[in-house]
Amino acid sequence: MDPVRTSRPVVAVIGGGQLARMMHESAIALGIELRPLVEADDGATGRVVVTKAAGSPADPGAVESLVDGADVLTFEHEHIPREVLDALAERLPIEPAPDALVYAQDKIAMRERLTALGIPCPRWAVVRDEADLAAFAADVGWPVIVKTPTGGYDGHGVHIAHGARDAADWFAPGPLLAEELVPFACEAAALLARSRSGQIRSWPVALTEQEDSVCSVVTAPARALHPRTRERARAIAERIARELDVTGVLAVEMFVVGTGADERVLVNELAMRPHNTGHWTIDGSITGQFEQHLRAVLDLPLGSTDLIVPGSSAVMVNLLGSDLPDPARALGDAMRAGGPTARIHLYGKEVRPGRKLGHVTVVDPDPARALELARAAVAALRGEQQPPAAAPDPDPQEPR
Ligand code: ADP
Repeated sequence: MDPVRTSRPVVAVIGGGQLARMMHESAIALGIELRPLVEADDGATGRVVVTKAAGSPADPGAVESLVDGADVLTFEHEHIPREVLDALAERLPIEPAPDALVYAQDKIAMRERLTALGIPCPRWAVVRDEADLAAFAADVGWPVIVKTPTGGYDGHGVHIAHGARDAADWFAPGPLLAEELVPFACEAAALLARSRSGQIRSWPVALTEQEDSVCSVVTAPARALHPRTRERARAIAERIARELDVTGVLAVEMFVVGTGADERVLVNELAMRPHNTGHWTIDGSITGQFEQHLRAVLDLPLGSTDLIVPGSSAVMVNLLGSDLPDPARALGDAMRAGGPTARIHLYGKEVRPGRKLGHVTVVDPDPARALELARAAVAALRGEQQPPAAAPDPDPQEPR
């Protein structure tokens, strides 16, 4: 038991979107107080939490009230200035620490560090102008992927250049990260949590699909990959966690290239917080990523990451936009379409085109069936008319 503090643990979180909202669900179960920094009172988290600080991470007063009396500071997103974090580091533990978080904030710093560690990445270069870009393309060939090093998410800040001229207007904010266009067979994500004491637990590696650079479907475990590739992906993620001293949840997004015996992974990017590619763990694994993140940042023992149903697959489908004014009005249709095993999560956000409004996970021995049911539930939440996918399922509690 904590010998000094007499009140329940308080976890301060930078951010107030759906990730902090789902962290709050786990905090309630554990009797932990979650205190998010919400920019909008009616946002995904603002409308459900009891205690919160209001304002932006750039507002010193807001950050002050966020950390006052908190046990630890953690994150829902990485967009917080380094100076703010350095000042806070003297006040309370920050998990992950600013020295680790920098590799999730800055893609150039991440590429430099991973390359120094010998971790496989796409070929890359820092480019400052069109001439640099043309020189890089002379090596790797056009087209080239060009990324803004900081502040990107969901593909914002990721561009494709077919020639140096395409990039003429892109250099004003500063140097960019150029990468070869990887002809990947598929994308995967290795997810783990690590605590300050060094305990690490990895979940099974998942396959991820993106639509317009936004995560749309995640399937775990990634049974389509060779077991050796899955093992390699897990080992790479664990090595990154240890070398970079990451604490909390770490998601390592990867490209899978080659086939059969030549199948291998290249690291695309890092997120040091619960991540969309890990939402399946809430329903598919014994310990979900949000609970595990809380355990890790409070340096508590980590929970089991085994599948909740051994041998099953978990498929998560994102709800991206909806034709309905509020998808929660279609819960009945979604439950009928997805069947009794579909787990529906809605984030309480205002509907906008393409916006992440929720997700549905189905755990089933057959991944194709899980995908079909999860897709059917999501279609109903989008307001799309379609016949129900779920087979009639007599309630086992009803006499037949
Ligand atoms: P963000 O941080 O905005 O999510 P990412 O670097 O993860 O940006 O890129 C988003 C998506 O763009 C990736 O999931 C992938 O589909 C595609 N992508 C990014 N880099 C490359 C690359 N070097 N080669 C091929 N596709 C890429």
